[in-house]
Amino acid sequence: KFITFEGIDGAGKSTHIAFVTEYIRSRGINLVSTREPGGTPLGERIRELFLHEKMHLETETLLVFASRREHVAQVIAPALARGDWVLSDRFTDASFAYQSGGRGLDRAKLQTLADWVHGGLSPDLTFLFDVPLDVARARLDATRDLDKFEREQADFFNATRNEYLRRAAEFPGRFRVIDSSQTIPAIQARLAAILEGFVP
Ligand code: C5P
Repeated sequence: KFITFEGIDGAGKSTHIAFVTEYIRSRGINLVSTREPGGTPLGERIRELFLHEKMHLETETLLVFASRREHVAQVIAPALARGDWVLSDRFTDASFAYQSGGRGLDRAKLQTLADWVHGGLSPDLTFLFDVPLDVARARLDATRDLDKFEREQADFFNATRNEYLRRAAEFPGRFRVIDSSQTIPAIQARLAAILEGFVP
């Protein structure tokens, strides 16, 4: 099985990935835990470029997919072929959310790249850790004078989040949207309930 974890930065993704990893391992399933951008030595070098260099939006998109191509070939496909489970911190939904939703790249271009890079491969289960808009808005309202950068951040946050939610609505079979404003125990109870029906 191929499980992915998605969400805006700060949604608590890492904490919950650790919980899910432990839950699945405790059932005696072999799993590979990985992440994007990155996941391979070359992919991690691409991640460094991606995070720290200024570049054109299409360059950034192509780099993320180059990292993904290597990740699928070196890590994800071989693990699934062995019968291991793969847990990835982000995958192609993040490209739609960030490069298209947040930064405005044409969705059709992303779909072309996705078909090219991992045509037959799609996650079996995707957890979307979602921070509700009112939580974000409450934080923003607390800051009276938003400067231009902060306003852009708010728009970016909303646009990225909305694209994630649009993807979740488009693929309800594999997406599970988790309300990340809940307490950690409440979220873990929800994760366990979902996994209960998924883990043999
Ligand atoms: O999830 P992680 O913290 O590893 O992501 C690193 C950074 O890359 C985050 O700030 C995230 O917003 C950004 N990112 C992105 N486009 C992607 C994946 C991640 O802008 N496709």
